[in-house]
Amino acid sequence: MRVHHINAATLCPFSARLINGHGGLFERARLVCHVLLLETNAGLVLVDTGIGLQDIAEPSRLGRNFLRLAAPRLDPSETAVNQVQARGFQLSDVRHILLTHLDLDHAGGLSDFPRAQIHVHLREHQAAVTHQLRVKPGRYISEQWKHGPNWKFYGDAGEDWFGFAGVRALGDANSDILIIPLNGHTPGHCGVAVRQGEKWLLHAGDSYYFHGQIETPSSVPPALGLFQRWADTDRAQRIANQERLRVLKARFGRDVVVICSHDPADFDPRE
Ligand SMILES: [Zn+2]
Repeated sequence: MRVHHINAATLCPFSARLINGHGGLFERARLVCHVLLLETNAGLVLVDTGIGLQDIAEPSRLGRNFLRLAAPRLDPSETAVNQVQARGFQLSDVRHILLTHLDLDHAGGLSDFPRAQIHVHLREHQAAVTHQLRVKPGRYISEQWKHGPNWKFYGDAGEDWFGFAGVRALGDANSDILIIPLNGHTPGHCGVAVRQGEKWLLHAGDSYYFHGQIETPSSVPPALGLFQRWADTDRAQRIANQERLRVLKARFGRDVVVICSHDPADFDPRE
């Protein structure tokens, strides 16, 4: 399966040293929105969507706090839809979108692919869309799914995979693409594992923000760590899942490459 790595939005918060862990204190940081585009026998599959064209056309829907603090570049050429087309594919070739969660910097591109089936954990849908679960206001933007996507939900039942429980295959059919519950950042946050020959690539979404968090000993730049704590919906779960990812990397780092959404150090432009 061919995997394309796409940065579907650049975020430029203050400050490089406190967010990226290097660079000037008064320089802007650089964070990416790491999206995967998978070429499968059953069409194209996206993992996350970053910020979309509708967000760029109407930035106010992202909220003043996000615009001020995350300072997204809002460049249409970075959107997943434009990068899919730049690679010579049609919009309609994207059949499935797996979302690690529904935060605004992950779900923004949904409306650019109105025909795709959207795969999320049931609890994420209950938190973001039907409001059966309560979270801090401002993180989910209902305009991003007002077109009424064709959802498919994943609950807690599933298989084991490298010590992670409740793991399901995409559409319960494609066992080369797995959905792995990793909640804590949001109620239904998941990782997505993609088989690449003998190895796996695990997109861990926002279950960690900085590569040093899944190394031993772990580390995180101070402002990024603070922001992560602010964004937690279940801190104990987030920390426990980060620990499991640290153990996974230490024990099975040769079999499983782990990446997260926003750390540019995890974004591999070499493809
Ligand atoms: Zn995020």
